[in-house]
Amino acid sequence: MSLGRTFILKTSALKPVESLVRKSFLFRPVVKRFIAGDTLEDAMKAAEELAKVGLMSSLDYLGENTASKEEALSAIHKYKEMLTRIGKSEFAAKINISIKLTQCGLDQGLEFAEGNYREVLRIAAESDTFVRVDMEASRKMIALGARVREVKWAYLEPAAVAFPEKGLVDQKFVEMAKLLLKEGNYPAIATHDENIINVVKTFAQEQSINKARFEFQMLYGIRRDLQDSLLAEGYNVRVYIPFGDQWYPYFTRRLAERPANFLFILKSFFKG
Ligand SMILES: Cc1cc2nc3c(=O)[nH]c(=O)nc-3n(C[C@H](O)[C@H](O)[C@H](O)COP(=O)(O)OP(=O)(O)OC[C@H]3O[C@@H](n4cnc5c(N)ncnc54)[C@H](O)[C@@H]3O)c2cc1C
Repeated sequence: MSLGRTFILKTSALKPVESLVRKSFLFRPVVKRFIAGDTLEDAMKAAEELAKVGLMSSLDYLGENTASKEEALSAIHKYKEMLTRIGKSEFAAKINISIKLTQCGLDQGLEFAEGNYREVLRIAAESDTFVRVDMEASRKMIALGARVREVKWAYLEPAAVAFPEKGLVDQKFVEMAKLLLKEGNYPAIATHDENIINVVKTFAQEQSINKARFEFQMLYGIRRDLQDSLLAEGYNVRVYIPFGDQWYPYFTRRLAERPANFLFILKSFFKG
C-alpha cells in the first residue's frame, strides 16, 4: 500500500479528524459523490435510476464493527427492511444487498453473528435476493461453488496478510480473475482499473467465456463512464451503492485509494 494511502488511512482514524470531517460542510459535496444518502429510499432511488439504464446494483448499509448486540440487531433489522423494499421494486431482479459480518455482531460473538447472518439469508431466500458478504480485515470458495467478488483490498493490513507493492497486487488480481473466470461460479470482478478490465475482457474472449458467466462491479460515483461503456459492450455491470450515516470509514477509504479526490474538496471549498 502506498505511503500516501497509509498516511490518509492512519490520519483519518484519529477521532479529532473524524469529528472535524463529520461537522464540516466542506466534505458534504464529496461525500455525496460516493454515497447515495442517509436513507434506504435514497439508495433505492439511486438503484432504480441505474436499473433504468440496465445497470445492476448491490445496496450496502454503511457500518462495521458493531459495539453492542443492540447495534448489531438494529443493523439486521435494516438488512431485512432492505430485502423487503427491494422485493417491492419493479427492478428487484437487478438489485441485491452486500452485508458485513462485523455488522452482524461478529465482535459480540461468532454464534451470535452466525445466527443473525442466517436470519438475513432466510429472509433473502423468501424473495430470492442474493446476499453478498463484504471482506474486511484476512481458494476454498471456488470448490464450494460460492459466488466470489474479487477486490484489490481497501483496508490497512500488515505485509503478512496483504501484498505491499501495488504491482504485485495487480498481478495477483489478474491471476485470480483468470482462475475465477475459468473455474468460478458467476464471479464478480470488482475494480475500476481499466488496464485490468481490458486484460479480463481479452482473456474471456480468448477462452470463449460467455459474458453472461460473470459481471464487473464498481463503486457508486467512480468511473461511471467505464460502467456505461462496459454495459454498452454487453457486459453485466453492478454498482455498489452505500447509504446511511455511518459513512466516514467508507469515505476515507475512497479518499485514500485516490488522493486526487481531495481536489473535489478544494473545488467545493473555493466554490463556497
Ligand atoms: C463492488 C466493490 C466492492 C468492494 N468491496 C470491498 C470489500 O468488501 N473489502 C475491501 O477491502 N475492499 C472492497 N472494495 C474496494 C477495493 O478493495 C479497492 O480498494 C477499490 O476498488 C480500488 O481499487 P481498484 O481495483 O479500482 O484499483 P486501483 O488500482 O486502486 O485504481 C485503478 C483506477 O481506478 C480509479 N479509482 C480507484 N479508486 C478510486 C477512488 N476511490 N476514487 C476515484 N477513482 C478511483 C482510478 O482511475 C485509478 O487509477 C470494493 C470495491 C468494489 C468495486
